[in-house]
Amino acid sequence: MTKNQMLKFVDVERDMPAKRDAGLRNKDFHEIYAEFADAKAQEQASRCSQCGVPYCQSHCPLHNNIPDWLRLTAEGRLQEAYEISQATNTFPEICGRICPQDRLCEGNCVIEQSGHGTVTIGAVEKYITDTAWEKGWVKPIVPAQEYDQSVGIIGAGPGGLAAADHLRRQGVQVTVYDRYDRAGGLLTYGIPSFKLEKPVVMQRIEQLEQAGVEFVLNTTVGEDISFDAIRGKHDAVLIATGVYKTRDLQAPGSGAEGLVNAIDYLTASNKVSFGDDVPEFESGELNAAGKRVVVIGGGDTAMDCVRTAVRQGATSVKCLYRRDRANMPGSQREVKNAEEEGVEFVWLSAPKGFTGDPVDGVMIQKMRLGAPDATGRQSPELIEGEDYIEKADLVIKALGFEPEDLPKLWNEEALTVTRWGTIRADFRTHSTELPGVYAVGDIVRGASLVVWAIRDGCEAADSILNFLAQPAQVAAE
Ligand SMILES: Cc1cc2nc3c(=O)[nH]c(=O)nc-3n(C[C@H](O)[C@H](O)[C@H](O)COP(=O)(O)OP(=O)(O)OC[C@H]3O[C@@H](n4cnc5c(N)ncnc54)[C@H](O)[C@@H]3O)c2cc1C
Ligand code: SF4
Repeated sequence: MTKNQMLKFVDVERDMPAKRDAGLRNKDFHEIYAEFADAKAQEQASRCSQCGVPYCQSHCPLHNNIPDWLRLTAEGRLQEAYEISQATNTFPEICGRICPQDRLCEGNCVIEQSGHGTVTIGAVEKYITDTAWEKGWVKPIVPAQEYDQSVGIIGAGPGGLAAADHLRRQGVQVTVYDRYDRAGGLLTYGIPSFKLEKPVVMQRIEQLEQAGVEFVLNTTVGEDISFDAIRGKHDAVLIATGVYKTRDLQAPGSGAEGLVNAIDYLTASNKVSFGDDVPEFESGELNAAGKRVVVIGGGDTAMDCVRTAVRQGATSVKCLYRRDRANMPGSQREVKNAEEEGVEFVWLSAPKGFTGDPVDGVMIQKMRLGAPDATGRQSPELIEGEDYIEKADLVIKALGFEPEDLPKLWNEEALTVTRWGTIRADFRTHSTELPGVYAVGDIVRGASLVVWAIRDGCEAADSILNFLAQPAQVAAE
């Protein structure tokens, strides 16, 4: 079985437990699953009413031509569906897996809004592209012409990779620098493998390597190489470093052993799924097995932590959030998935401190929602006298991320930032105030989504190509 058959197989197995025993005994096991996947994708695609007001498309950040590829899938014309789908999306199989579709395309499907359940657009997009990889329709990147000009990309997450793909297709020389030992950014080390299988990410990186993109890994810009040196080596530079400064909690006991940051916990878990030796996992420091786990936070990172803890064999998993369900920032679909897997949500609860070292409990303050703030969102208020202690052996802090202070770390004060610390870049061209330097993804938007980073990366690549086509501008630097 090929890698892609395996991925499809795993996914379909999840979808069809009831049909598994339904008299399909005479055929090859994998053949049955493949047929089931074909039928299911076609069935879903044929539910699209071709309504003529494709809100799904306008709510997809890439404006994917969803109605057309759904129609072609329904007609069994998968290769054509793939061609249309990949024309607007650099990594459709990744978006199909991890876009919060309930907030984007599917949430705006006319059929969903008429109460009949959305067409599962993301699943079809994933299916089309997985099939394309399996059948060899995904072609190697072969530039028609080679140019001497080079672009240095700092950060190998989806923003940097999407730009690398577009620039390389046009024959520009591309070098991607990243501090991690593998490319992919949060696709590789943030998002858990049960949502995004790692071979799916690695096959894209291999495709870029085969196209001649050079990856310089284990290299932190600002430490191992200066930003200035990178600017000196390349004709243009793209900053796509994401946001990694973890928001912390200052409360009594917050220095105790057993309190960990979400990104460290998820990175360790992802490294284990690659088969790496991870001493902090082996020692139990970043391993939920056999523990009572409390995750603090209400966003998608918190959802990834609770669902990872369940899979690692935690004895109980609770998610603490200071507002209520309706006001959670995370996807409702993810909350539902977590609940189905046995996670308990403790709403309107905020941590006041921690007991024990190693930690053995979280001191909880109950909250209620008060008057709306300037943004219209109700602020949580304390309820006096309802404190209690929630027992815990592992506490995972998932309170969000902020940008690192790049101008300071890179000794480049001319790189201007917004009041949130994100890099100031033109929202259309993605150019910063430094000539020939562009910025995309989370480091510009703040913590956002993969699909937005892909869009930014593609747009920035177009701007960089325009910039490189003006030699006078390069010479003037
Ligand atoms: C746990 C978690 C789960 C998520 N789940 C989803 C999801 O399901 N769906 C979704 O759409 N979005 C999700 N997101 C958000 C999404 O992952 C990000 O919006 C997206 O990855 C941003 O892409 P990026 O290219 O800007 O940055 P990143 O993916 O963060 O990549 C940045 C890269 O830059 C490198 N880097 C940083 N500083 C330096 C330096 N000084 N020198 C060299 N390299 C450097 C980093 O090592 C990293 O590889 C999730 C985020 C997290 C944290
Ligand atoms: S890229 Fe994301 S939002 Fe756009 S169609 Fe695919 S799953 Fe939907």
